Amino acid sequence: MTSVSGRDPHTGRHIEVAIRDGIITAIAEVQSDDPAWLSSGLVDLQINGYQGFDLNADNLTSDTVVELSRRVLATGVTTFLPTIITAAEEKIIACLRAIAVARQLNPTFHHMIPGVHVEGPHLSPEDGPRGAHPREHIRPPSIAEFDRWQRASGDLVKLVTLSPHFDEAPNYIAALRERGILVSIGHTRASCEQIHSAVDAGATLSTHLGNGVDDPLPRHPNLLWTQLAEDRLTATFIADGHHLPDDTLKVMLRVNGIERSILVSDMVALGGMPPGLYETPVGGQVELTPDGRLSLSGTGFLAGSVLPLKDAVAHVARTSLSLSESLRLATENPARFLGRAGKLHVGAPADLIRFTWERTAGIQIESVLLQGTRADSNI
Ligand SMILES: [Zn+2]
Repeated sequence: MTSVSGRDPHTGRHIEVAIRDGIITAIAEVQSDDPAWLSSGLVDLQINGYQGFDLNADNLTSDTVVELSRRVLATGVTTFLPTIITAAEEKIIACLRAIAVARQLNPTFHHMIPGVHVEGPHLSPEDGPRGAHPREHIRPPSIAEFDRWQRASGDLVKLVTLSPHFDEAPNYIAALRERGILVSIGHTRASCEQIHSAVDAGATLSTHLGNGVDDPLPRHPNLLWTQLAEDRLTATFIADGHHLPDDTLKVMLRVNGIERSILVSDMVALGGMPPGLYETPVGGQVELTPDGRLSLSGTGFLAGSVLPLKDAVAHVARTSLSLSESLRLATENPARFLGRAGKLHVGAPADLIRFTWERTAGIQIESVLLQGTRADSNI
């Protein structure tokens, strides 16, 4: 039996959480002057890489997956979906297999990685909405291909992002929902009717709403209004201060409300790296500026984010919502889609973070527990 204490961001009260065999067994209010906050660990539905470890690398190995997971854990993320982007089928399958092996080797990573997010390859082929996804590998949805992904990886894919402009999209979405797979709308120039059809077929998420879309857009109607208006869709947002202007993010969060909003990092391998020009295997040359903006050289198109999810939580807590509300967007809300708790309650896995929060310094992670074990001790 161990215990950990801190201030509950949702009530402001000090609590002590008792843990046995990796599970929360009791939560009690205590008297304390300890300034650190205690929360359920962060849940990130979209991580492509971090600190030089690239989940979309050619010849991805399970070692890379394990090392990336360790580093991500140190940023306070206790559950995440490794995200594989548009590529040839053989490469998608090779990446899925490497992640599957990493999970099989270590129960810790099995717990931390409940599945994989495949973003693509059924996206808009057009410059702009396609973002950094390679055009030559964009292709229409294929249920046969999806089933090959699942056979090769032991049913590891849990979330697929697609553009619903393809004629095959409604049938494909319905087939994935029958298999228990989440479908998200993204990287698209779809019409409003096609968005509604995708939701009727079972799509429940919008991937990084406001990005992966034409610029400029017709003022109305357009696919942003439709996705914001669609009560059956929950949107993910990249809140790094670059992907969405603060005013836009604030309005989108207000329209969707706390319940229908999720923060994702969409971090790429250059996350946590120094500024400069880099060659990437799929996106070509990219530029990382000192203020944390990553774009395709010469086009200005954003090529993913470099900020961990904790910094997105801090950004939203600074600009739009309370700390408690902002945390919900990165814990309870994404966890709900994965069948996880995402909050502190008796019987839940003891996936916990202790951290400090100040407007200028942001969120500083003090310690991370995964299933009751400290992240720096032998994980
Ligand atoms: Zn994307």
